[in-house]
Amino acid sequence: MNTKFIDLRSDTITVPGQGMLEYMFNAKVGDDVWEEDETVKELEFELAKLFSKEAGLFCPSGTMANQIAIRVHTKMGDEVICDELSHIYNYEGGGLASNSGVSPKLIKGNFGRISVDQITDSINPDDPHFSRTSLVCLENTVNKGGGVCYEYKDMQSISEFCINKRLKLHLDGARVFNALVSRSDSSYDYGKLFDSLSICMSKGLGAPIGSILLGDINFIHEAKRIRKSFGGGMRQVGYLAAAAQYALKYNIERLSEDHRRAKEISDCLANLNFVQNMRPVETNIVLFDINKNINDFNQFLMKNSIKASFMGVNTVRFVTHLNFTDSDLEKLLIVLRALN
Ligand SMILES: *Cc1c(COP(=O)(O)O)cnc(C)c1O
Repeated sequence: MNTKFIDLRSDTITVPGQGMLEYMFNAKVGDDVWEEDETVKELEFELAKLFSKEAGLFCPSGTMANQIAIRVHTKMGDEVICDELSHIYNYEGGGLASNSGVSPKLIKGNFGRISVDQITDSINPDDPHFSRTSLVCLENTVNKGGGVCYEYKDMQSISEFCINKRLKLHLDGARVFNALVSRSDSSYDYGKLFDSLSICMSKGLGAPIGSILLGDINFIHEAKRIRKSFGGGMRQVGYLAAAAQYALKYNIERLSEDHRRAKEISDCLANLNFVQNMRPVETNIVLFDINKNINDFNQFLMKNSIKASFMGVNTVRFVTHLNFTDSDLEKLLIVLRALN
């Protein structure tokens, strides 16, 4: 028998449903390297407007969008301030060094959220012994921090500080819509805080491929050059942009359901004695440690047709998404309780 797995490894594993596929199928496309793809242009414009930015650039992945932003904002030898949990440092293949020739200044923040005081302490003096500090990167929500969000006012303080210190500020907003929905914040206000933002369409929003990079016209002009040199200029990519348009239209508000289900998972786990160090659950990620052997735990889950992802020796991650239903949730909770 072919059992259906409940796959909670990531919100990237979703596949397009009928509605999204039809949207894609009917997209008007052209050669986007020649700037002739109307659907891509529409999407870039739509997202730029949503985040009060001048322009947008469709990219094949969130990693590329971040790496392009870092390259545009820095010079070789510079230092980039970010949290030690950040995706740009941990999960982008060392691209800071290999793509831009810059190094990270790592901060130990609050589940991946950094503060003005910490940034202040991390800026290098203008002295040839030190690398030049030119960029600060925030991540919201913080993946490796368990999906926690920044308070708007904290990001606002960081933004004002960076303007004052002439530091560029980039947001890795792979899951920024989860943050916006969780905090009921406005995308328009968010956009004003940053020089650039990267946003994934292929995480909780459920599009198959694609991220968008936002910034002012000069920034996007430069970003387009770098995207080409990274091999990210794509041709009739409107099919993917259409999927993103569909996701923006239908899959934002429903993120609150993912958040509710994640909260129910964490409420259940909090009562189980093999669970430790539960990270605060604010969005669609549930991150916790276990005092059992992690391979045994994984085997137990797999036997019950559940997939989780594992980060480190005893850390488990569940990520809820649009292919995870209430009946899946019910089954998961029964399986977890059985293990107690
Ligand atoms: C997934 C993710 C990215 C990168 O996205 P890819 O499309 O997988 O390259 C960047 N930042 C964060 C926080 C992410 O979770």
